[in-house]
Amino acid sequence: MFKQYGCSECERLWDEYKTAARNAYLLDSKVEIASQEQNLDAILRLQPDIHNIFERRRELRKQILAYDAGSHGQANSANG
Ligand SMILES: [Zn+2]
Repeated sequence: MFKQYGCSECERLWDEYKTAARNAYLLDSKVEIASQEQNLDAILRLQPDIHNIFERRRELRKQILAYDAGSHGQANSANG
């Protein structure tokens, strides 16, 4: 994607995206461990969180792309 330096809105969106991506990764690891231990209870408990965080990550990605298309690009070509 197209992060622009010095743009505070981009920084904010990317920070949130990175946090969501990191949380998704951590939860994924927990599920991995739980499934190795065949801990079905833990897996079931983690399911809603996994769903939420991946949804969140997808949403932020969409926001970044939409924001970038709207606020950067051709209208801002003096910068690029
Ligand atoms: Zn920006």
